Amino acid sequence: MKILMVAPEVVPFVKVGGLADAVGSLSKALASRGHDIRVVLPKYKSISDFKDIHFIDKYLLKIQLGKEVAVASIWESSFPGSTAKVYFIEYNMFFGDGSVYCGPSGSEKDNGYRFALFSRAALDLCGQINWLPDIIHCHDWTTGLIPAYLNTNDFSKPLGRAASIMTIHNLQHQGYCDKEVLDYAGIIQTLFRQDGFESFGQVNLLKGGLYHTTKINTVSPSYAKEIRGEALGCGLNLVTEFRSSDLFGIINGIDVEEWNPENDTYIASNFSEKDLSGKQNCKNEILSICDLDNNKDAPLFIIISRLYEQKGLDLFLNIIDGLMNESNMQIAILGTGEAEIEEEFVHFSKRYPKRFSTQLKFDNVLAHKMIAGGDFILMPSRFEPCGLSQMYAMRYGTVPVVRRTGGLIDSVSVFSNDWSKGCGFNFENVDSNELFAIILEACAYYSKQNFKYKKMQINGMQEDFSWLNSAKKYESLYASAIDARRNAFL
Ligand code: ADP
Repeated sequence: MKILMVAPEVVPFVKVGGLADAVGSLSKALASRGHDIRVVLPKYKSISDFKDIHFIDKYLLKIQLGKEVAVASIWESSFPGSTAKVYFIEYNMFFGDGSVYCGPSGSEKDNGYRFALFSRAALDLCGQINWLPDIIHCHDWTTGLIPAYLNTNDFSKPLGRAASIMTIHNLQHQGYCDKEVLDYAGIIQTLFRQDGFESFGQVNLLKGGLYHTTKINTVSPSYAKEIRGEALGCGLNLVTEFRSSDLFGIINGIDVEEWNPENDTYIASNFSEKDLSGKQNCKNEILSICDLDNNKDAPLFIIISRLYEQKGLDLFLNIIDGLMNESNMQIAILGTGEAEIEEEFVHFSKRYPKRFSTQLKFDNVLAHKMIAGGDFILMPSRFEPCGLSQMYAMRYGTVPVVRRTGGLIDSVSVFSNDWSKGCGFNFENVDSNELFAIILEACAYYSKQNFKYKKMQINGMQEDFSWLNSAKKYESLYASAIDARRNAFL
């Protein structure tokens, strides 16, 4: 199949969260299965500084917006270690400065215009390179206009035959913007209606995309069910319910080459499920980096996360004093996010020196070291569309302690009447007391029932989280979307 991936962030070029990992790894997995994959993303300033990109070509692209034609430069490159091609849309007024989700003006207000231009550019690029995709795979709200373009402006053109897939990586982010964005984009205003882009008098890019796309999927089967309900539907549950016959859940895989304890070059010692001895060196290294006591009996809990309400870390913050009193656990946190949560973690690092460490930064190398050196990884998320860190952790024999939600249900197998039969521990409700109890239970397993803890480590290391299974499921979804789109023209 000829598949165009359109995404705001893609590993290894630019990453804010799990979306970037998913798009990068899926593209590589599909390319290795013989598909013709082209990935399009904006050329942010950080990409110009990325030394490993080898640009093959550069040319101009005319982007047909509502009243104006914008001219962007296209930088063509290859995807490292893969046949997938990459195109960067360079339009400095929108992407030259700032970050992925914040324009050069330093505000998120321009995002509607930025990603309208990007969406139109991704489609106009196909004409420019004379390549017609069978599938246009859109990722989250930034690409919400694409399915609408295919159903209107492009419908009677060859490109309009392409089917679209909209993957929801996180329903919370929907791309609210001014109504004028539709005029700027050249989208007919009649699409500004309740079963389209309208939401509370504004444009909601994701909502419109969900109405217009051929098929929808999200990144785990459990999250696909959860977003049809009011609690986790983020105000779009009527839309997801309305489209439920076209809504699927496919769990993300992970890049098993980057995350492999047997040959990971970032960690102190390599190890495998057959010989875990190197893991102790990795723990020693992380204890030293984080300035924690080298206490052999103490379980080391790690958190690697964006520090936002979604991640449920306030549940943990509520119980830290209690945990410090009633257990010998040690904690190492790596993350950035909301100032208030950051401050609370720093506060506890000062209160419990040598037992509690907070690193407020984004650091992929440190993330590898922590995943390798931790005994447990903690993810008490309020909701978790898929979650990647728990899968990385299991590959490195680091046992997850998670809330029963979304992808954490689908990826961490749990046997609550004998935890050692599974790969991790979980708790049900958004409740600090439940989290407290399960952390103490995990600590007890680590000390008293060490052989059972080891069994859980091995169980996790034996799981297969590669993209192969998920890529096959995407192939079936693409095939059904192509059929559905074809039928729309009969
Ligand atoms: P989300 O997309 O909601 O942030 P995921 O678990 O799907 O959550 O993906 C987050 C990814 O970002 C994981 O690969 C995680 O290890 C990584 N990550 C998050 N925060 C940091 C950080 N401060 N430093 C390094 N990696 C991080």
